[in-house]
Parts: sequence; structure tokens; C-alpha cells
Amino acid sequence: MRRLALPLAGMAAVALAVTGFTPGSSAAPAPAADTRPSYYSLKLPAGMAVADLVRDGYDISHAHGSRPTLVATPAEVDRLRARGVVLGKTGDVYQPVARVASDAAGTTYYGGYHTTAGHEQHNAAVATAHSDLVKLYDIGDSWKKTQGTGGHDIQALCITKLTTGDCALNSTGKKPKFVLHAQIHAREVSTGEIAYQWIDLLVTQYGKDPAITSLVDSRELWVVPMANPDGVDVVASNPTQPVMQRKNVDNSTGGCPAGDAGVDLNRNSSFQWDVNQGGPCDETYPGVKAVSEPETVAVQGLLDKIFRDTKGEVGEPAAAGTTGVFLTLHSFGSDILAPWGYTNTAAPDKTALVALGKKMGALNGYPVSTGDGGVGYFAPGATDDWLYGTRGVPSYTFEIGPDSGACAGFFPAYSCMGSTFWPKQKPALLYAARAAAAPYGPLP
Ligand SMILES: [Zn+2]
Repeated sequence: MRRLALPLAGMAAVALAVTGFTPGSSAAPAPAADTRPSYYSLKLPAGMAVADLVRDGYDISHAHGSRPTLVATPAEVDRLRARGVVLGKTGDVYQPVARVASDAAGTTYYGGYHTTAGHEQHNAAVATAHSDLVKLYDIGDSWKKTQGTGGHDIQALCITKLTTGDCALNSTGKKPKFVLHAQIHAREVSTGEIAYQWIDLLVTQYGKDPAITSLVDSRELWVVPMANPDGVDVVASNPTQPVMQRKNVDNSTGGCPAGDAGVDLNRNSSFQWDVNQGGPCDETYPGVKAVSEPETVAVQGLLDKIFRDTKGEVGEPAAAGTTGVFLTLHSFGSDILAPWGYTNTAAPDKTALVALGKKMGALNGYPVSTGDGGVGYFAPGATDDWLYGTRGVPSYTFEIGPDSGACAGFFPAYSCMGSTFWPKQKPALLYAARAAAAPYGPLP
């Protein structure tokens, strides 16, 4: 989710809380408290706002236009009830998952979601097997890699039927560009999987499915399947109860409890960066300055290179002839968010941006909103606002849902990929790629 917050101080305790007491011990400690988090609906007492609880560090998220959802441990629930908040449990954070063979091999976790290593193997395999269609780029380092403590390259693939000049790191390519960007928030695990499926769809159906063949012939289809690989390592470090890591793992500011350090990469861009998004231990911490994080440097640097810089001032519309579409995938909700995300002031191209959003929404069933959607949170420094704000390229956040029911939550069962996530998003992604040729119309 891009507009909520949440320190999950309680998460670090989950793994520690399973130690029981020692039978027969003369000073037996109390049985370990249940610290497993659950999702709750909220009803606030008079005079209290969701924003107050967010400031107090509670993990509250919400789909636009729907009721907020709280992720809380039993201890947090007790504290909130003592303040008069009425809470109704709506679901468990963790689903029972069956181990699969690739979990044991370290390429998947939680029943099938791909680890960083799994994505990296996949990217390399696809690039090797389809060298006529795929260019694989290392666009920069993760924070840990910059520190010499492990970490990863940030990888981007460009998929097209390669001809001279295609998929170069410049803005002079002749094919319109569609960019799919995923898992900048590490715990939003469905998003990286959708990118993985998208890559496979394009390379396996080229030459078979006429619509996909036409797209791959005529577009540069860029994919950043894992924008926050260090964070994904943290998430996957518990394969049956993934860790609620949202941010990167930059702990250089210091002073945070274990698990609370890091920078929210979706608040760290250089467009409308806002120091007031949270402190170093908060889930929306924007970093010490704009583009402080190597992951931001990598992604912003890629987009900077491949899109023409034709946009004027913030209040000016996109230049005539602007091409391209950018989608950044988040979860969980059921929303398409169009610029701006940092303010309720209408973007200069709002009418056209919403029109394209609605076309995609007709395919995945999500409503389109702009600004804060009426709930009072903004996302200054987000990736999509940066690209639209500086290049004029139509840029959207998809909050992958549902926002309630069996496949809701940050950690839905992997079977939801096949039953829900991919079938709903595939047609919307194909449409977005088609629309990249003339995103301001006439729309296909
Ligand atoms: Zn997110």
C-alpha cells in the first residue's frame, strides 16, 4: 500500500514469542503471549481520527473509499480497546501453506512466491533462452550491496523483438515503452509474482498469440520485477510466516528497534519529497534526503534515461506526443491510483489520466482515484508521481486486491495467484502496454 504507515514493532517479536515456560521451574515465566498479528476493522470514538493512530505507529491501511484495515498484535488490540476503539477481527495475516519443492531449494517461499534468488535465476534464464527478445540490465545496487554486506543488483528486463536501437538506455528508441515496476514494498508479495508471470507471458506467447506477438514487436516492455530485493530477502527469511518488511534495510540512521529500520522507497523520489513523512523507524520514513537510497537511484535513473524529458513545470500538462505508460504494483486493495498522489490538487492532465485509468479498471475491476481518495493520506516522493511529474508519462499505482476475503492481505495463499491476481491483472497489463503508443488518446 502506498498511503499508510505502520511500524510493526510487534513483528520482530513474533519469532521470539514461541518459547514456552520450563515445566517444574521454580520461577516459571508466564506462558508466552500470542503475538500473531491479525487484520481488524476499526470504529473510532468521537474525536479520534485514523491519522492520529497512524501517527502513534499503528499499521493502518485502506483501500480508497473503503473502511480502514488495521494489522495488529493482541497487545496492540488491547491498547486500542482501552482507548475506546471498537475492533472487529476480519482475518488472519498468515494462511496455512503447503511447502513446495522449490521452497526447499530456496527459489520460492510461502508455497510458491519467488525469493530474490528465484527472480534472479528466472531473469537470467529468460534472457538466455530468448536472446532475440530480452535484454537484462543491472541498473544499480541494493543498499546492502553498497555496504559490501551481501545484497543484490537491481535488475530490469526489456522485452521486445530486438532490432537495432531497441531497449537501449536512452530515450531515442522508436518503440513506445511500457514499464511494469513491482515489489518496491517488499511485503506486498503478490506484486513480484505478477511481474514474473508477465515476463513469462510475453516470452512464451511471442509467435503464438497474435496480440502478444504484435505487442512484443511494437513496444519496449520494461519490467523491474523486484525494486527492493534486500527487503524481499527479509520477507522470505521466514518461509511459512513471511516477515512484514515494507522498506529497504538501510539502518544507517540508527536508533530503531530490530526490524523497524529502513527507508520507504516509495517516499524517496526527488519529486515532492517531504521530510515530514515519518521518522527513521516509521514505515513511511522518506530517508535523510530525496534519492538517498541506491534502489531509488537505480529505478529513477532507469526511467530518467529511457523517457524523454519534455515536461514543463509541475502545473503544465504533458507535452504533445508524449508516449509510454508506467505501472507500479502495490498491495493490498482494489484500486487504481492516478496522479497526483501527493496532493488533492488536480494534475494538469487529470481528465486524460483518469480516462486511461478507467480503461484499465474496466479490465481488472478496480475504481480509479486521485489524490488521497478522501482518506487523508498522501504519498509525496512516490515513483509514479515522479515519472508523471517530470516526464509527463501517465503513471499509476495498482493496489492489487481484493481488499477483503480469502485472497486479501499482504500474504495471501499462493493459490490466489492463479485464481485471482493473474487472471484479473493480465488483461489490464496488456491494455496498458497497447495504450503506451498514445496514452493521451485516442485510446485503443
Ligand atoms: Zn505499497
